[in-house]
Amino acid sequence: MARKPHVDEGAPAGGRVRLVAPDAPEDAAGADVLGLRPTRLGDFVGQTELKGRLSVYVEAALRRGDALDHVLLHGPPGLGKTTLARILAAEMGVAIHETSGPAIEHKGMLAGLLTGLGEGDVLFIDEIHRLSPAVEESLYAAMEDGRIDLPVGEGSRARTMQFTLPRFTLVAATTRTALLTAPLRERFPIVEELTFYADDELAEVAARTAARLGCPATEDGALEIGRRSRGTPRVTNNLVRRIRDFVEVDEGTRIDRAAADRGLSALGIDRAGLDEADRRILRCILEQFGGGPVGIDAIAATLSMPRDTLEDVYEPFLLQRGFLVRTPRGRRAQPKAAEHLGLEGPGQPRLL
Ligand code: ADP
Repeated sequence: MARKPHVDEGAPAGGRVRLVAPDAPEDAAGADVLGLRPTRLGDFVGQTELKGRLSVYVEAALRRGDALDHVLLHGPPGLGKTTLARILAAEMGVAIHETSGPAIEHKGMLAGLLTGLGEGDVLFIDEIHRLSPAVEESLYAAMEDGRIDLPVGEGSRARTMQFTLPRFTLVAATTRTALLTAPLRERFPIVEELTFYADDELAEVAARTAARLGCPATEDGALEIGRRSRGTPRVTNNLVRRIRDFVEVDEGTRIDRAAADRGLSALGIDRAGLDEADRRILRCILEQFGGGPVGIDAIAATLSMPRDTLEDVYEPFLLQRGFLVRTPRGRRAQPKAAEHLGLEGPGQPRLL
C-alpha cells in the first residue's frame, strides 16, 4: 500500500531573496501553501524527455518491487528539482525525507537520517555539493552497500559499529555538477539535467497558477508572462502572484496581455525577461570592463554580489540567451547585450 509522503523541511536556502529571483521561496516559509507544485509526473510541465525516462525507471522499479536507483538532478535554481524529487516519491508510493547538504553537519546526523528511513523511502538532499567531505564519505558506503559505520563509545573503549540500512533512494539536487567530486557523481546510476523551459511551457504554468489563484489569465497574458520568466517556473509563479496584485488593485478580474505587460514593467522586467540585476551585470561588463573578457570574481566584487549567486542564479540565463559568453579568459558581453541596453557595443577584441 502506498504510504502518504512525509515531508521534513530542510534548512531554507540562504542568500538574498529578490522578488523574481529563481531561488526565492514561494512564500516566507518556503512551503507550497497554495498548492502550486505539481504532485504527479503527469502534471509536471515540460522536460518531456526527462519525464519519459523517469517514468520508465519508476515503472521498472515498481514491477521489480525494488527501490528506485539513486538519482542526481542538476540545473539552475527554480527549474523543478525539489518538485521532481517529491513526485518520484509519490510515484513510487513512498515517503520523502528532505534535507540539504549544509544541514547535515556531521556523520552522526547523516546516520540519524538514514536509519530513520522506511523501506524504499526517498532521502532528498538539496545542494548536495555543499556536503562536508566527512559526511560525503559516509554517504558512499550508504549508497553502495546499504550500510553506515558509526563510532560509538569514547577513549579506549571507542569502536566502530556498522548499521545496515533499509533499501532507500537518494535523490540529490545541485545547481552545478562541476562542484561534485567524481566519486560522488559516479555513485548515481541516474543523472538528469533540468534545462530552461520554453516560453509556451511557462505560459502553461502561468495559466494554471493564475487559475488556481482565482485570477485567470488569457492566452496572450499567460504567454507574455511565460516569455518574461527567465525560462524558470518558479519565476513564473512569483510573477503571476505579483501581477495578480496589480490586477486586483486596479479592480480587474483577469490577466490579459496589457495587464501582464503593465505588471511586468512595474516590476522592472523588460521585454527580454531581464530584471534590474541582470541589466546591472551586463552594464558592469560593458561599461567597466570594456565588454570583457573579465573574470567572474571581478564582476562579483564590483557588484558586491556573492560569486555563487552570480554563477548559479544569473549567469546561466544570460549565457543561454546569448547575452554573455564564457571564454577561457573570463566572461564576455555579446553585441546583443549592448544593443539591448542601448549602449555602445563591446569593442573589437584586441589582438594582443
Ligand atoms: P528547484 O528545486 O529546482 O529550485 P522547485 O522544485 O522548488 O525548483 O520548483 C520551483 C517551483 O516552480 C515549484 O514550487 C513549482 O511550483 C514550480 N515548478 C517547477 N517545475 C515545474 C513544472 N515542470 N511544472 C509546473 N510547475 C513547476
